[in-house]
Amino acid sequence: MSMFGQVYVKNNQYKIKGDFHHLTPCTPIRNADDGWKLMGVTNPREMTYMHSYGGEAIFFESLSQGKLMATKCENPKCESKGSIYQPFRIFCPDCLGKMAVMDMTKLAKEKATIHTFMVCERSGAFNILDKPIKFINIEFDGVCTILMSYLSKGDPEIGMRVVPIFQTLNPTYTILDLSWVPAGTKASALPQGFTF
Ligand SMILES: [Zn+2]
Repeated sequence: MSMFGQVYVKNNQYKIKGDFHHLTPCTPIRNADDGWKLMGVTNPREMTYMHSYGGEAIFFESLSQGKLMATKCENPKCESKGSIYQPFRIFCPDCLGKMAVMDMTKLAKEKATIHTFMVCERSGAFNILDKPIKFINIEFDGVCTILMSYLSKGDPEIGMRVVPIFQTLNPTYTILDLSWVPAGTKASALPQGFTF
């Protein structure tokens, strides 16, 4: 009996269990205009990829707990000391030193606005967001970068105050666990699985 591949780490090694690939039969591709002669075959491929988050793991773990983490350069010799980065990045782009992790949830709840946005009526393969997707670029007071995310309720406007919401009830441990709604949205209006 097959089961989805599952992984954990012990003694600094991946420990794997279950099926990481499935054999699916090929089917012929035939030419309807030429006596259904054989042209080729389909090659179905399904596999489980092990995606390591490395130093960013705490960012995704925190989303599942309703917290937005950022990084900050605390190197006293760095010209940009004190710079805060969201999206989360491990190393300072100026001094290349390892940055400190900080919780910026409060800042995001109080001082986040839409810098610009893009509404997409169509999307690529494997997309699971509802369409149209309202991609927003979020500006935070005191943060030197802008975060790309998506608005779950309402229509975006430049300068609109937004607040983060987190998929804490059934987290995916991906960036989709973070979304945004206009400030003032009621908890009862949030998408299923999301909390403030
Ligand atoms: Zn630095």
